[in-house]
Amino acid sequence: MPVSGKADAAVSLLGVSRTYGHGPAAVRAVDRVDLEFAHGAWTAVMGPSGSGKSTLLHCAAGLERVDRGRVLLGGTDITDLPDAELTALRRTRIGFVFQSFNLIGSLTAEQNVALPLRLAGRRPAPERIARALADVGLSERARHRPREMSGGQQQRVAIARAMVTGPEVLFADEPTGALDTSAARAVLDLMRAMVDAGQSIVMVTHDPAAAARADTTVFLRDGRVVDRLSGADARTIAARLVTLEG
Ligand code: ADP
Ligand code: MG
Repeated sequence: MPVSGKADAAVSLLGVSRTYGHGPAAVRAVDRVDLEFAHGAWTAVMGPSGSGKSTLLHCAAGLERVDRGRVLLGGTDITDLPDAELTALRRTRIGFVFQSFNLIGSLTAEQNVALPLRLAGRRPAPERIARALADVGLSERARHRPREMSGGQQQRVAIARAMVTGPEVLFADEPTGALDTSAARAVLDLMRAMVDAGQSIVMVTHDPAAAARADTTVFLRDGRVVDRLSGADARTIAARLVTLEG
């Protein structure tokens, strides 16, 4: 019988490990992690550089295979899905945002936002694209290309692109890492509003102020979950991080 996560979890990791390389050079980037990301909540993931944050996020989002344990998205065990099914699932049920935005430079904002629908073989309804851009406050930038927008605007386009399919979970790997303070705040305000409207978000960050906007912060060290704080302020989160980095 398949193992199952908690019913209210957006994503469950059950005994998940991910190792890179073989033999004496092997690195266990994620080490037997049991973790549930609550539905409708914003979870931040923090830890020293190299502690496995990105690997954990990629495994949870189905971007990378695990070599031990199970990954459940909602009620679906995605661990052993064939590649084609996993790709289809990623395109429809998961959104992913990167530090470096990863927009396509030759496409306008609205073309970038339409891309996931096109890749899923759907004809994007113009009002759906317009709505996704309006939701991130960029209606007037629809025909602009990435180089004609600020970093903060590009990241908001990337969020619109990630959200246009209505994903169950939005994953973000250091989404404010390349932004100045005010652009970062705008992105975090947007994410907060999305969560308050019911979106589940899992976000890796280095910034205690960003983690303080989330509901819960999970701390990693050497590929393992070592602590969890809920409702903590930036100062408390920063102090916890310092003890891990020592
Ligand atoms: P973080 O995001 O917390 O900085 P990562 O998940 O990127 O950590 O990396 C965790 C560990 O796994 C590090 O030791 C890193 O060098 C290693 N690692 C990550 N990706 C790869 C890869 N593709 N090949 C080999 N080692 C990797
Ligand atoms: Mg990383």
